[in-house]
This record gives sequence, structure tokens and C-alpha cells, in this order.
Amino acid sequence: MSDQESEPKPAEQFSKEGRCPRCGKSFKYRSAAAHKPFPFCSPRCREVDLGNWLTGRYVIPGAQSRADDERDEDAADLPPDAT
Ligand SMILES: [Zn+2]
Repeated sequence: MSDQESEPKPAEQFSKEGRCPRCGKSFKYRSAAAHKPFPFCSPRCREVDLGNWLTGRYVIPGAQSRADDERDEDAADLPPDAT
């Protein structure tokens, strides 16, 4: 706890500029630690990008395991040397 650090420093505010990887919008921020949605411009862009990752990871394994189950059932019904 330091009184010196609690004082705002206008000269250092929003001194860096970044570009949102989600929407491509440039934005200013003070520091990566202070800008919570970093490296995105806003929490919304961060959530959208995170959501895409999560849904992508959930959808792919789920669809694959389901397809494998159906294929296994079909294979079990048919004799392996039916040709
Ligand atoms: Zn953005």
C-alpha cells in the first residue's frame, strides 16, 4: 500500500496504442495489466473470441465421437468380409 502509486498520472494514461485482433479497431490503453480485455479493445470482443474458441473445441470432439459411435454400430451389423 503506497500513497504515491494511488495518485493518477494523467501523462501516463492511455499512452499505448493497440489493435484489437477481433475487430481490428485500434484502441489506447495505459498498460496491459490495467486494460482487462487486452489484447482486445473491449470485454465484448474478448468474450466473442473466447466463445468461438470454446464452442469450437466443444463442437469438434462431440461430433467426432458421435460419428464414431454410429459407424461402430453399422460395422457391427455388417460382416467384415461381406464383399
Ligand atoms: Zn474489438
